[in-house]
Amino acid sequence: MRVSKSHRSNRPKSYKINCAGCGKEVVVQVQPPQDKKLLCMDCFKK
Ligand SMILES: [Zn+2]
Repeated sequence: MRVSKSHRSNRPKSYKINCAGCGKEVVVQVQPPQDKKLLCMDCFKK
């Protein structure tokens, strides 16, 4: 099965969330659960 990189009609959906730690906007490729607090990579590492 061959996949063409120039074909962009099937790009993944992205969701913008705000980090619960610093408030920074984070873009994720999966739909985040609404009742769960999410952290950006910087806050997650702490
Ligand atoms: Zn953060």
